[in-house]
Amino acid sequence: MAEITPTRDGRAELVSRFPHDGSEVGRVPVATPADVDRAAERAAAAMDEPGWRDLLPHERARILRAIGDAIEADAARLADLQTLDCGKPITEARALVASAAGTFRFFAAVCETQAGALPPARGPYLALTHHVPVGVVAAITPWNSPIASEAQKIAPALAAGCAVLLKPSEETPLVAREVARLAAEAGLPDGLLTVLPGDGTVGEAVVDHPAVRRVSFTGGTATGRRIAERCAPRFVGVSLELGGKGPAIVFPDARRTQAVAGAVYGAFGGAGQACVASSRLLVHRSIVDEFTEQVVDAARRLPVGDPRRPETRVGPLISDAHRAKVLAYVERAVADGAVVHCGGGPPADPDLAAGPYVAPTVLSGLPPDHPACTEEIFGPVVTVLPFEDEDDAVRLANATAYGLSATVWTGDTPLALRLSRRIRAGTTWVNTTKQLSVASPFGGEGDSGIGREKGLAGVRQYQSERSLYLGLDDAPLPFAGLEVS
Ligand code: NDP
Repeated sequence: MAEITPTRDGRAELVSRFPHDGSEVGRVPVATPADVDRAAERAAAAMDEPGWRDLLPHERARILRAIGDAIEADAARLADLQTLDCGKPITEARALVASAAGTFRFFAAVCETQAGALPPARGPYLALTHHVPVGVVAAITPWNSPIASEAQKIAPALAAGCAVLLKPSEETPLVAREVARLAAEAGLPDGLLTVLPGDGTVGEAVVDHPAVRRVSFTGGTATGRRIAERCAPRFVGVSLELGGKGPAIVFPDARRTQAVAGAVYGAFGGAGQACVASSRLLVHRSIVDEFTEQVVDAARRLPVGDPRRPETRVGPLISDAHRAKVLAYVERAVADGAVVHCGGGPPADPDLAAGPYVAPTVLSGLPPDHPACTEEIFGPVVTVLPFEDEDDAVRLANATAYGLSATVWTGDTPLALRLSRRIRAGTTWVNTTKQLSVASPFGGEGDSGIGREKGLAGVRQYQSERSLYLGLDDAPLPFAGLEVS
């Protein structure tokens, strides 16, 4: 979590605080409008420098690989910093740092192997397509998994040949700056990656800058919608990875131990602050009571606490304000008759009183259209709803505006395949959950946004595809025979 404070020279700083106890972790200067202008102009100029513009793909790939290696070499420090900045349990933070290094290496490989195309010719010419960088990219990243989200945007944008203006979340401004420093040390030319921290105005200034030709945003749906509206008049392309309200659907033939563990991990990993959280548990009516009891029993035993401890599985939320939002959902659910099976408020442990903790919470007894069942709470809160059969499961799964991810627990593979087609979700997991590979496209449908990140085509959103027709010697054109003097 972070707050803004003025400095003596009249500028402002973001002060990052460790969510666990509010202690200061570090400070970064807030970017001014003039900083945004300067960075955007430098970015546009850097993209046009022959040293970058004409760099051959394998040479650009070498820089990306070097950034990945630098992240890996500094992994322990980056993971500690990530945990302090956002409160992520250290085991998860280490995995995110490793994934960031892997993301740079993956896009290095993509960069080296990307090919144009030779569409079938329909006339006396040779037709080619090739790709050019779309322009300066504005990347706006969230606070829940900063280094992974940042790598996911920076690496493909650089692989495409673009320059990046990175606006990290005001809650977690520290790691992005470290990644930019490592990238510079790894040989990334000046101006190609600038981090612009801020709170309240910098995001808009970056998106609105005329040099920016592509925006990649991960965050809340309301903000994503505003960004899309701002970009539309200039036809600036957007990729929006927004919220989710993922269902985990449990059939009676699911392997029970795996499904219970998956339901608990899906709902409470990252303290539920994950767009791909399974925050709705849809359980077949024949097993719902027993399954809920098993989930509640496991949730009560989850180690909640100081995220620096390796045994911690559920850390603090990002801020007091966010906890208030999460608890408001729980309070409303209780007022509307929800059964609270566990949690429902801060944990009893007095050592956790200084941080914005919420105990893993399981609710049932709500109608499917209750806000706790349809809106993204983004905290360790899961609602349980029973379903009758396959059609009912699909109806409930699709009963929100979101469409990011879904999980199905069943021993019936054809059923799982049918559901993966019928449920609105950019990603479906069957008998596993929250597994994400940089090689697989990721993104949502409906209010979960548009566009796909990652995957072999992850670079393409940062490029413009161009067609080239190469006339063959003396091939006649329709106006052949016209006298040319
Ligand atoms: P938001 O998702 O609303 O996004 C805040 C970021 O967007 C900041 O960097 C901000 O920059 C920038 N921004 C805000 N308005 C604009 C604009 N008009 N144009 C350009 N940039 C803009 O963040 P919150 O942290 O408030 O999260 C709200 C909710 O979103 C959460 O409660 C959660 O439900 C969801 N969320 C989803 C995530 C996901 O992974 N999909 C991740 C994080 C949150 P500036 O401060 O300079 O305005």
